[in-house]
Amino acid sequence: MKLLVTGGAGFIGSHLVRSVLSPTGPSQPSVDPRAVTVTVLDALTYAGNLANLHAVKDDPQLRFVHGDIRDAQLVAALLPGHDAVVHCAAESHVDRSIAGGADFVSTNVLGTQTLLEAAVRANVTTFVHVSTDEVYGSIADGSCSEEQPLAPSSPYSASKAASDLLVLAYHRTHGLDVRITRCSNNYGSRQHPEKLIPRFLTRLLSGGTVPLYGDGHQVRDWLHVEDHCQALQLVLHGGRPGEIYHVGGGTELTNRQLTQRLLDACGADWDRVEHVPDRKGHDARYSLDWSKLRGELGYMPRYSFDKGLDETLAWYRGNPAWWKPLAGAQA
Ligand code: NAD
Repeated sequence: MKLLVTGGAGFIGSHLVRSVLSPTGPSQPSVDPRAVTVTVLDALTYAGNLANLHAVKDDPQLRFVHGDIRDAQLVAALLPGHDAVVHCAAESHVDRSIAGGADFVSTNVLGTQTLLEAAVRANVTTFVHVSTDEVYGSIADGSCSEEQPLAPSSPYSASKAASDLLVLAYHRTHGLDVRITRCSNNYGSRQHPEKLIPRFLTRLLSGGTVPLYGDGHQVRDWLHVEDHCQALQLVLHGGRPGEIYHVGGGTELTNRQLTQRLLDACGADWDRVEHVPDRKGHDARYSLDWSKLRGELGYMPRYSFDKGLDETLAWYRGNPAWWKPLAGAQA
């Protein structure tokens, strides 16, 4: 299989590329890595980092292309010959989208449409689009099924919802074999320190304080990135055309509970927590019903939150050279 991974130098994309090319963790279904070649297309924005691909940089099965998914000429030239696309490239940080939404619409909506157009023309067999639980907006109780109507709250989630609809439209109109995954909050190594868990860990490791939004009662489900990669490969190899699959991690925590876990892990107290005004339009709770992925494709998260957090903390502790230059780039 010749696979194109967009955003493959980012957090999730780079974990996926490493797990496809040199499977060491639990994320690899039984596909021979030598039967796969991977092209990474990445614009290397502030969120992209070639160091994330260091472990596989000399792998002859990997080709890196520095480019933008909105570049129609480049994308049209690149896609022919690829069997499948896993589309991870996006502007991904909600707070940045609140500060200014233009890049989110441009990359997440127009960029996705540019890829879809090229995928149709190049007769790409399968297009996996990586989306988010945030497209449903906040839900008070229960868990969303894949049929839940979209009600995004932020410019980020609205741009992801728009891209999801385009993906489905290219399936209905052109018959393109698309599969959408919608996952909960990922965590793990190599996540930009603008995101909650690495932001808190790196600040605690640096002896600083951590900013907790509002009352901290927002609920999120935490998914280890390697479990997410397992799910992406299951959907890529076994999913059905035109279908949406939820990917959850099975650990719902309020932000206060999460903060407590992070403080405990770092041996710190609540005097290191700074209460800051709530994020505008902050969704109270996301929750996904991921029984479809479990029932159809046998997905089961393999990381307990304790194990995942221990490994994540150990990674940030051991790799200050990776995150220290990025700490100033936090939104
Ligand atoms: P990230 O911000 O870490 O990485 C995004 C990557 O895309 C970067 O390497 C960046 O350089 C690249 N990129 C951005 N704009 C581009 C463009 N115009 N052309 C080419 N490359 C471009 O993001 P992530 O956390 O790895 O998220 C990957 C996907 O998963 C996104 O679609 C995101 O919406 C989705 N998602 C993430 C989470 C999470 O918790 N991280 C949760 C749900 C869904």
